[in-house]
Parts: sequence; C-alpha cells; structure tokens
Amino acid sequence: MPRRRSEAAYARARKVIPGGVNSPVRAFGAVGGAPVFVSHGYGSKVVDVDGRPYIDYVMSWGPLILGHAHPAVVKAVRVAAERGTSYGMPTEGEAELARRLCQAIPSMKRVRLVNSGTEAAMSALRVARASTEREGLVKFEGCYHGHADPFLVKGGSGLATLGISSSAGVPDGAVGRTVVLPYNNVEALADVLKRHGRSIAAVIVEPVAANMGVVPPKPEFLSEARRLCTKHGALLIFDEVITGFRLRYGAVQDELGVRSDLTLLGKIIGGGLPVGAFGGDAGAMDLLAPLGPVYQAGTLSGNPVAVAAGRATLEELSRKVYARLEEAARELAKGLLQGAERRGVEISINRAGSMLTLFFGPGPVVDFAGASACDTKRYAAFFHSMLAQGVLLPPSQFEAWFLSTAHADEDIEATVRAADAAFARL
Ligand code: PMP
Repeated sequence: MPRRRSEAAYARARKVIPGGVNSPVRAFGAVGGAPVFVSHGYGSKVVDVDGRPYIDYVMSWGPLILGHAHPAVVKAVRVAAERGTSYGMPTEGEAELARRLCQAIPSMKRVRLVNSGTEAAMSALRVARASTEREGLVKFEGCYHGHADPFLVKGGSGLATLGISSSAGVPDGAVGRTVVLPYNNVEALADVLKRHGRSIAAVIVEPVAANMGVVPPKPEFLSEARRLCTKHGALLIFDEVITGFRLRYGAVQDELGVRSDLTLLGKIIGGGLPVGAFGGDAGAMDLLAPLGPVYQAGTLSGNPVAVAAGRATLEELSRKVYARLEEAARELAKGLLQGAERRGVEISINRAGSMLTLFFGPGPVVDFAGASACDTKRYAAFFHSMLAQGVLLPPSQFEAWFLSTAHADEDIEATVRAADAAFARL
C-alpha cells in the first residue's frame, strides 16, 4: 500500500532539511524506501501521516519505556509547561531529579543535567581529561557515544587503530588521541593500557552495547576493564544512555556488579524530551564550573518541562515494571526464533531485558565484526515486509528493538505472526 502523504512530506522536507531528516538513520538509508512520517503515537503504536498505525519497536530509539503519550508523562508535561517552559534559573525539580538519579545509581554522587547523550559524553570526557591530566581515550568498535568529535573514529578490524576520523569535518587532531578496540576483547584493552596506560584519561564503553545491535558483554569484559582502569589510573566511563533505567530501576552496572567512575545517562530519564546527564563521584564532578576549572554550561540544561517528564517516568518505573517488560521481550524473542526455524531462515537474537536485535546470520554476535557479517539485505527485506504488515522496526540491522510497558500480549502475538509471514517470503 502506498504511503502517499509520507512520500509527499519527505519530498517537501528534503527541500529544506538535509536529506529530509534531522538525524540520519531516520532516512531509511539502510533499508531503502521513503521514511515513515509520523502523525502521532499512543501506547505501543505510532500512526503515520497516511493514517496507518504500526506497532512501534523504535520507541524514539529508547526513551519511551512507558510507550507513547503515557498519561502520567503527558500530565506532568502539561502542568510544567503551564508554569513556563524555561527560566534559565535553578528549580527544585531538577535537584529532585538529580537526587533520584544519585539514589538509584550508587556510583553517582553528583550529576549534571544536559540536553542530549552527545553532550553528556563530551562533557564527561572533558571531566575525565581534567581529572587525570591526560588526553587519551579508549573506545570500542560498534559503541556509539554521540557525535562529538573525539568519539567519531573508525576502528580498524582486530588490532587497535589510532584515530582516523570517520566523519568529514572532524580534524585528525580531534580524534588523534582516541584508540578504538574490539568490543568484548579484554586482551586488546590490557595490551593498549600496558603500552599507553600513562596517557589514557578514560575508557568509555556501553556496558551492554546497543548501537551495533544489542551485544551483551562477556562475563569478564567489564570487570577486567574496571580492574585495568584502576591499575592504570584511567577513568572508566559507562555510557548508560540506553541502558540506564532500561534494564532495571537504575544503571545496568549494578546488575553486572561493576561500577564506573563516570556514568552517562539520557533517553529514559527525560521521558521523551531532550535530556542527558553525566555523573560520578564528587572528586571528579566538582571539577566542573562554578566549583572547578572545567567549563560546561547550557541555556536549557535542567529544563523544567523535560525534568517533569523525566521525573514522571522514573516515578512510574519505580513501580516494579521490569518483570513484565522482561516477560514480553522473552515471548517476542521466542516467537521470532520459532518462526524463523519453521521457515528455515537462519537468525540469531541478542536480547537484554526489553531490548533485542534479530541478526540474519548464525551468531552468536559478540562484537562489531560479527554484527557486520550479518545479512543486511535480508534485514531490509524483512523490515519492509513487517512495515507492510503494520510493524515498525528500527530501519537498520545495527539497532536495538525497544519494548515498552505499553506493548501488550496482543502486540507481541501480532508481531510474531507478521514475522512468520515475513520469514516465509524471504
Ligand atoms: N550514547 C549512547 C549509548 C547512545 O545510544 C546515544 C544515542 N543513541 C548517545 C550516546 C547519544 O545521545 P543523543 O542522541 O541524545 O545525543
């Protein structure tokens, strides 16, 4: 069925917005075809401008753990907006959100609110560099930490590759201190820290990776990273922009039993409004202005409407929702695997709580090289078949599917049925 209004909207948008979108993955480049333009969302569904509803597994790329337009969040936003949308002055609400975050995440004694995960990552790196008086950064291939210059580095396969920018406009100098290593590879990290340890300010990692598709850490990966960072005096930064409050109430680091020095948050803690946060112990965080020499600021940081949405979301999440999310995601993964097997399609699924990725390949996928070896053409065909049946998946193989508390049994069953038909047609 054609999506005429979406196509027309896309054509109009392309005249004034580069590529017609404000974030590249939305353009459907990895799966082809015109993007779906959304009219509105409710619960587990989004409705496109042609009036077609979809069961949504993009969920704004993670923030909407309560589903679209959750009544408690909408009410909090409305009440806050009626009191003024921004003051540029401190409020009690932002301190209350910060208190909640610190209470939920023991490694976080101080936290600063920003407007995006990108800002959280670049600011945390600045703090780490100031705190250690070093410049080097280690990141892992396939992990994403927003689009600030030092993180936009392409990793070579296998061995460590020193800073080659993967974006035009990023000077080599900005990434020249960034080392990229394969995810889940303790030996590579030990080797780099042994050789360059004294110049490494921070090791940044998604404790459960979700930007090459979902890739959980091997059991010793994070604990070894912790040990090595402590040994070499580098700060360990966990990017929990996706995992924060997604897998439990708080950070996944406390489930995995490994604490970071600095933690990045975003997405869920803003309830679907623009928010990020970074925090850690007072020693590092109190280096920030106005207390210390590390400059960092924001006109809209701690915005009262975003803070209200975040607080309402955390309040709902404190009511033991995670068991139900786990059960729904487990059922979905089970149904997908059964469907693929019935239709003779080779897939593997990586899942952590309410996020999962279906890879077209034998698996198990444990790093970026493994994710890259999967059949993205098959994913594109599967994606479009699902879309035609009213299921919106992330428009790329290398992304997580997100469930919400609004995804009901009927949604899961309908998705599994659609997938069965999609597998049959591959
Ligand atoms: N870190 C992680 C783990 C992310 O997934 C993202 C965005 N998907 C970011 C950082 C950047 O966040 P933002 O898009 O809000 O800048």
